[in-house]
Amino acid sequence: QAKRTGRGRVVVYTREMEEAAKRVTRIEQALRRAVAAGEVEPHFQPIVDLATRETIGFETLARWTDRDLGFVSPGVFIPIAEERGIIGQLSQLVLRKATEAARDWPEHLFLSFNLSPSQLVDHNTGLQVLSILKRTGFSARRLEIEITETGLMTDPASAEKIVNDLKAMGIRVSLDDFGTGQSSLGRLRDFPFDKLKIDRAFVSSILDDRPSEHIIRAILAMCEGLGMDVVAEGIEEEAQAARLVEFGCAGGQGYYFGRPCNADETLTYLRQNVLNVRSKPPLPHAMI
Ligand code: C2E
Ligand code: MG
Ligand code: MG
Ligand code: MG
Repeated sequence: QAKRTGRGRVVVYTREMEEAAKRVTRIEQALRRAVAAGEVEPHFQPIVDLATRETIGFETLARWTDRDLGFVSPGVFIPIAEERGIIGQLSQLVLRKATEAARDWPEHLFLSFNLSPSQLVDHNTGLQVLSILKRTGFSARRLEIEITETGLMTDPASAEKIVNDLKAMGIRVSLDDFGTGQSSLGRLRDFPFDKLKIDRAFVSSILDDRPSEHIIRAILAMCEGLGMDVVAEGIEEEAQAARLVEFGCAGGQGYYFGRPCNADETLTYLRQNVLNVRSKPPLPHAMI
């Protein structure tokens, strides 16, 4: 069918668009139910010191397998949650579960967590994070928040206030997916980022294209000058890691070091890869 809108423009609604809209609504409804039932789970991907290969922290990544829809990728459900006003609740659920799990890890490990653009215009965000940390007993000093440049665009003044609130609590703030989207170097001057994450797009082409190599080197030099930490994302092979070490990149993340894993699998990973991991305390006698 076609609909006539103002000024004689004609918009064509195809069957595919209709199907897509229906699917989004179906996902939205299923997601609301899943969030209310506490069924979205945090997974954790290791972040390493590239020189020593020691694990220094983990990024929290939301995972959802619906009863009917099956596995739905965060690349699909996060934008829907954002658009349909579910992201706040979803985020609180995932952060609560993630900090509950990470509380038992060795103390030198940090946990990072992604904030969506709409959370950077919501003045409750700071208090919500704080109340979750209080409730789970996870130290703000071990938490990092990842935000993208898109997230800073909607309302820079509000975003700045929220970022500063988080920093005042001792939370570190990193700029995610750097080099894609609406990159502006001015943002690096205005916002007090602690860390920058180089987007996977540059890392994946580092071995076969000169421009990527130069761009990564320039980003590293800039971070050094600004006193910011760096993590290269999406490392999939040793040759990429070796090249990044050669360029002086301190941190790395990617399938080569570990895929995102659930809380139990992460404990196993920690026992195998990180010293001083406590085993689960024995059950008190009364409970046996
Ligand atoms: P991101 O924050 O940039 O997260 C990194 C993404 O790259 C993750 O995808 C991760 O699984 C993937 N990745 C890591 N290493 C490699 C690699 O070596 N090769 C390749 N090809 N991919 C790699 P994922 O888990 O599908 O998440 C996609 C995006 O969804 C995230 O991008 C983030 O923007 C968003 N997201 C995920 N969980 C949350 C959440 O809890 N809250 C919010 N607001 N956003 C989230
Ligand atoms: Mg991220
Ligand atoms: Mg990223
Ligand atoms: Mg990304």
